[in-house]
Amino acid sequence: MTVNSAHDLAGRREVVTEVPGPRSRQLQERRHRAVARGVGSALPVYVRAAGAGLLHDIDGNTFVDLCSGLGVTGVGNAAPDVVAAVRGQVSEFTHTCFLATPYEGYVAVCEELADLTPGDHEKRSALFSTGAEAVENAVKVARAATGRAAVVVLDHAYHGRTNLTLGLTARNNPFKQGFGPFTPEIHRIPASYPFRDPAGQTGEQAARRSLEALERQVGGENVAAVVLEPILGEGGFIVPAPGFLPEIARWCAEYGALLVADEIQSGFCRTGAWFASEHEGVVPDLVASAKGIAGGLPLSAVTGRAEIMDAVQAGGFGGTYGGNPVACAAALASIGVMRRDDLAGAARRIEQTLLGRLKDLQSRHEVIGEVRGRGAMIGVELVRPGTDEPAPELAQRIVAACHARGVFLLTVGTYGNVLRFLPPLVIPQGLLDDALDVLEECFAQVAAGGAG
Ligand SMILES: *Cc1c(COP(=O)(O)O)cnc(C)c1O
Repeated sequence: MTVNSAHDLAGRREVVTEVPGPRSRQLQERRHRAVARGVGSALPVYVRAAGAGLLHDIDGNTFVDLCSGLGVTGVGNAAPDVVAAVRGQVSEFTHTCFLATPYEGYVAVCEELADLTPGDHEKRSALFSTGAEAVENAVKVARAATGRAAVVVLDHAYHGRTNLTLGLTARNNPFKQGFGPFTPEIHRIPASYPFRDPAGQTGEQAARRSLEALERQVGGENVAAVVLEPILGEGGFIVPAPGFLPEIARWCAEYGALLVADEIQSGFCRTGAWFASEHEGVVPDLVASAKGIAGGLPLSAVTGRAEIMDAVQAGGFGGTYGGNPVACAAALASIGVMRRDDLAGAARRIEQTLLGRLKDLQSRHEVIGEVRGRGAMIGVELVRPGTDEPAPELAQRIVAACHARGVFLLTVGTYGNVLRFLPPLVIPQGLLDDALDVLEECFAQVAAGGAG
């Protein structure tokens, strides 16, 4: 069967087999004989095409996509502008290595990053391929620029899976188990987690508590950088209490430590602004971006104050594939779509729909402890009724029930009990409404004790 594009396929949710279907199950068997066990898949339906908010599998099922490939395809999957830009670039040249002979696309992406990231100071960028690489290089910059070693991270943080970034990542199982030792001079402080922090604690108080411990244990003058996600992603879509981020930023400035915002998941319109730091008027010294930047092509970046970035000696940055020309073409096309179609505005409309419907659901289901998030990055934390005890198995049952009905969403969070809503920013309203109808059915069914 030939499929020219996702746009030739069903434009709505449709489940025609059990999930996963027979062809996917067959492929899954083949996979088990070839692919390492350490690589998981949340829903092993094998995809053959995908578009703006839909995933089509090889069994003829169509899922509403509330995952965007983990927050990557904000502009849509196989977005026409991205496809055209990639086709154009691929037929010109696919790779030279910017370190060998440069090309314009790399420069143009860095110009866009200077324009779009918070703050109007002079900036420089360096491009890489993965998010982890961007965070790792941001730490290198911070150490080179400050001459200090200590790196401070938050509880519930996720920064990647290389050895350094695993050290920065909070959660042991499954991310870190068996993979140590990790690099020294990483210090973890409590995050602001309003749902679980003492009632009435302000963001500023939460930050003071964390920073006072840091001053005692490490000394502010030894800190090269505080690396944080403005909205914790993998940790559970946790929005810090207002005032937390500004107080950390103020402290960094006081001690000459750099504030590194890991905006890999929260950047590029995801939260209803170009970058989530903007919601609190925070201007980070360095910004790491990736995921949403290039519509599915692997590209990441570190952007920061010119004098900080240029503290790294010539030749100190690099990598064979960093800023690959095809990925740069995809990024320029994606950024063009975000501007032209105001995808930050689209994310704010998605937020309205999601928060409205999910808070209504919360009023009817005691298991919903909190509905939170910004833009198209919304989490629903599930608990045992009347407590704040996490209910991860309930989250699994809800998600499984959604999958069986053709709605693809995942769980997230340190306790595995948060439903994560991360749709493409271009998802049609009708698909979002339909997915939420299905979710309501699933809550009703699971609450009634039905099987997933
Ligand atoms: C996904 C993610 C990373 C790691 O990105 P990779 O491309 O998987 O290496 C780092 N930080 C945050 C906040 C992320 O969400």
